[in-house]
Amino acid sequence: MANLSLLKRRTGDTAVTPAVTAMPAPEGAQLIGATRDELAAHCAAAGIPSHQIKMRVAQLWHWLYVRGASSFDEMTNIAAPARTALSGTLPIGSAEMVEEQISTDGTRKWLIRLPARGAGRPVEVETVYIPEENRGTLCVSSQVGCTLACTFCHTGTQRMVRNLTAGEIVEQVVFARRRLGDFAKPGEAEGDVAGPATGRMISNVVLMGMGEPLYNYDNVKAAMAIVSDGEGLSLSRRRITLSTSGVVPTIHRVGAEMNVLLAISLHAVRDETRDELVPLNKKYPIAQLMDACRNYPGLSNARRITFEYVMLKGINDSPAEARELVALIRGIPAKINLIPFNPWPGSPYECSDWDTIEEFADIVNRAGYASPVRTPRGQDIFAACGQLRSASQKVSAREQRAALAAE
Ligand code: SAH
Ligand code: SF4
Repeated sequence: MANLSLLKRRTGDTAVTPAVTAMPAPEGAQLIGATRDELAAHCAAAGIPSHQIKMRVAQLWHWLYVRGASSFDEMTNIAAPARTALSGTLPIGSAEMVEEQISTDGTRKWLIRLPARGAGRPVEVETVYIPEENRGTLCVSSQVGCTLACTFCHTGTQRMVRNLTAGEIVEQVVFARRRLGDFAKPGEAEGDVAGPATGRMISNVVLMGMGEPLYNYDNVKAAMAIVSDGEGLSLSRRRITLSTSGVVPTIHRVGAEMNVLLAISLHAVRDETRDELVPLNKKYPIAQLMDACRNYPGLSNARRITFEYVMLKGINDSPAEARELVALIRGIPAKINLIPFNPWPGSPYECSDWDTIEEFADIVNRAGYASPVRTPRGQDIFAACGQLRSASQKVSAREQRAALAAE
C-alpha cells in the first residue's frame, strides 16, 4: 500500500496550519510586487510547510506573472488548503479599475484606484497603452501627482499625493496585460499570444506616466526587477525606458543598478529657459545634467539616451536653439524626441507651428541625430504626454484628523 503521507505530499494535499507566531503583514503588502523572498515569508506566515515553500513560490510567480491570475481559484496546481491559507494572509493585488477609455487611434487609458495608505485616502492613477505597428508601449505612473511642477505639464499642477509602492507599479503592467488579454491562456505556450514583434501586446514599458520616477527610486527599481524577470513578465531591460526631469545625483544608479534605457526631459538648451520650464533645473543645471548623461553606464550607439524636447511656440523652438541643442549633446549617443506640446485646460503655452517643428527636426537630423516627432496619441481621451492628472488630492493633516474623527 502506498505510504499515505508521501502520497499526500506528492499531490500537494498536506494540511496547512497557519503559523501562530505570524506577524501581521505590513500595510500595502500584496502578492503582486513581492520579491521571491517576501513570497516565501508570506507562505511561511500562512503555515505552508517549509519543504513546500520553494515550490509554492515558483507556482505563485508563474500564476501571477505568466498567467495573470486574479484569483486563488485559478491556481489549480496549488493544493486547495494552501490556497485557502494564502488567500487569508494577503490579497493578490489592490488595483480597481475606475474607468477605461479607448481613443479613436486605439490608445487606451485606464484610471486605476489604489487603496489608502496611512491616514490618507484612496488614490487614483492613470496608465496608458499605446499600440503601434511593430510594438505596444505601456506608459506607467510612479507617483500620484508630482513634486516638481514643470510649467507645461498637467501632472505638475496636481500636488504630490504619495509615492506608489513597488506592487502598485508592477500591478499596472499586470492589470493592463489582463485587460488586453495579453497573458498566456491555459494550455497555450507563452509565445502563442497574438500581438506585435515579441508576440505580446505589451512589448515595451516606459516610466513616463504621472510622477518623477527618480523621487521614488527604490520602489521603481524593485518594480522593474519584477517586470524584467525572465520567469515572469519577461520584459527585456532594453525595452524599459525611465524618463527623468533631471535628478542628477540618481542618474548613474539607473544605469548601474537597473540597467534600463534612459530618457531625459530636456526641453530647453539655455538655463534661463529651462529654469522656467523645469524648475528642478535651478538645483541641477544643464551642464551637470549633461555630465551625468555622458557618464551613464552602458551608453553606446545601441543604447542611446533619448532627449525629450517639448515644442513650445516662441519659447524653445527657434533654429538657433536647435543648433545649440546639437552642440550640447555632441559626443553623447542620443536621439531627440520632439514632442508637440499637448494642451490641457488652462495651460499657459501653445504648440509650435508644424513648419517650425519640421525646421527644428531638420537641423537636428542633419547633425546626425534621429529626431522623430512624437505623434500625439490618445489626445481625444486626454492620454497624451503631459495630460495625465487624477482627481486625487493631497489631504492636509487637519483634513485627515477631521476624516478620522468623523469615522
Ligand atoms: N517626470 C518624468 C516622467 C514623466 S514623462 C519626466 O518629466 O521625465 C512625461 C513626458 O512628457 C516628459 O518628457 C514631460 O516633460 C513630457 N510632457 C509633460 N507635459 C507635456 C505636455 N503638456 N505636452 C507634451 N509633453 C509633455
Ligand atoms: Fe513631474 Fe515630469 Fe510633469 Fe515635470 S514633466 S511635473 S517632473 S511629471
